[in-house]
Amino acid sequence: MSEAHSLDSSMERHEMVIIGAGVCGIYMLHRMLEAGVDAVVLEAGSDLGGTWYWNRYPGARFDSESYTYGYSIDPEILAEWNWSEHFAGQPETLRYLNYVAEKWNVRERMQFDCKVASCVFDEDTNAWAVRTEDGRAFSGSLLVTAIGMLSAATYPRIPGVEDFRGEAFHTYYWPQEPVDLDGKKVAVIGTGATGVQVIGEIADKVGELVVYQRRPNWCAPLNNGPIDKAEMDRIRLRYDDIFQQLEKTPGSFLHGPDRRVFDEVPEEERLAFWEDLYASPGFGVWLGNFRDVLVEKEPNEAYSQFIADKIRERVKDPEVAEKLIPKDHGFGSRRVPMETNYYEAYNRENVQLVDVNETPIECVTETGIRTSDQERDFDVIIYATGFDAITGAFDRIEFQGLDGATLRDKWFDGPVTYLGTQVSGFPNLITLAGPQSGSVSSNFPPGIEFVVDWATRLVTYMRDHGYKRVIADKEAEALWTQEIKESYKGSLLSTAKSWFTGYNSNVDGHDKMRYMIYLLGAPKYRERLNAVADDDFEGLHFD
Ligand code: NAP
Repeated sequence: MSEAHSLDSSMERHEMVIIGAGVCGIYMLHRMLEAGVDAVVLEAGSDLGGTWYWNRYPGARFDSESYTYGYSIDPEILAEWNWSEHFAGQPETLRYLNYVAEKWNVRERMQFDCKVASCVFDEDTNAWAVRTEDGRAFSGSLLVTAIGMLSAATYPRIPGVEDFRGEAFHTYYWPQEPVDLDGKKVAVIGTGATGVQVIGEIADKVGELVVYQRRPNWCAPLNNGPIDKAEMDRIRLRYDDIFQQLEKTPGSFLHGPDRRVFDEVPEEERLAFWEDLYASPGFGVWLGNFRDVLVEKEPNEAYSQFIADKIRERVKDPEVAEKLIPKDHGFGSRRVPMETNYYEAYNRENVQLVDVNETPIECVTETGIRTSDQERDFDVIIYATGFDAITGAFDRIEFQGLDGATLRDKWFDGPVTYLGTQVSGFPNLITLAGPQSGSVSSNFPPGIEFVVDWATRLVTYMRDHGYKRVIADKEAEALWTQEIKESYKGSLLSTAKSWFTGYNSNVDGHDKMRYMIYLLGAPKYRERLNAVADDDFEGLHFD
């Protein structure tokens, strides 16, 4: 271990260092303080909230029902907090997280503007030395990552991005102060879940909007609506049922697959069912379908056609409509962006769609964007170009485990974990919402509540037995990773290139399949991890 990294007396010492003050870090800290663990949270942002602190772009809002996104475990919070919309906007969510943090009194254990640069395991003391970019140093016997799965924003690799003299923002780094887009000439690059929200929101406010699209996504209406007091009271009475339902579905959403298969339903009935799904709020249109629609080719093609026809109905110009219909993947094999007025935006005079496959972007200039056929000037460029997902946030920190090995090297060809929460060679590290965990493939809060509770069990187990060190067994890790790989076989999801499958054209080496997420469903994940814990944390070695 290098001298610069070893533990020294100037470090702020804690039993546990948690990195990240988002939805996950807030809950982990709460559970640790309840358990009497001396824990501290280090957060890169100037305040708490994680995803909901950073993503302030116009149109940012939940895609899962607000009342399924809140924490389920505190009756007082459930009794007091009122959601104002079925799918709350970012400001409301951030207010909620601040309210929860006050309730749980966790803020005073958080340090902000504290961007972690390196975490190095000291074998002599069994503790992690954690250093921040601005030179602060901490040590913790246990290190917990709650660093988000979509927190390492990526810009497109287009020449000239730094040359533009107007305003330019990645959606993740949207400024805290209001950005005036009224009447401006605006470009949006990217049409994932984020771009689609932005475009639907700003199309009728800006002067001109040009959307640069590489691959279209299958988008579906969010069908949001307000919640008045009477409805919120009714929701409150149903909380037990709601949380029970989240435990049953594969993605911990309200919506789970319909038990019927495509073939056994007569066409008329099938179409009526699909019409209902399309008109219903939230992810039902994706996750509430016949159980073979996201698995088998023929049903998937039929449903994709149904959605394609919806796009053709909503977009007036047939040429534009065809450009907006994906041809390279079936409905639901990538994350379905939920939209409000997205397709209608393209019926507006001031909105133009540029297919960059036909006219590739050559460069960003000082005044705009040049494609192969022309140059357009802009006041504002919005990069909705996504993230180095799940492992990106880990790669941006120097994690050094036993014998100086780094996590970045270990995961170079794709993540390798045990349970998605542990990594062999990296003792006393718990990766919450890490790659291959169930929390990254499900509605996030229910997913992380389970993982945090499981981690709390692990921490308590170690304390009760006087253990100072926990490390994943190499063989158990290999088996887990193999199981994850197997689960991709035959899944439609594995046929499409997206962040789910580890692709990102803006990151070196991310041009091949990486086995990032647990695909066997949240109930199975909980069952597996509970069985491991019941079996004295089988697959983990303690000293
Ligand atoms: P994304 O889904 O990865 O989309 C990035 C977009 O940028 C894609 O359309 C991509 O095109 C395009 N792009 C990237 N590099 C480009 C380049 N060099 N030239 C042209 N286009 C380029 O990222 P995202 O939209 O930020 O969404 C990421 C995830 O965040 C979502 O899947 C979702 O899980 C989460 N999210 C959640 C919510 C919510 O819950 N409310 C809202 C927004 C986002 P290609 O498809 O061709 O690569």
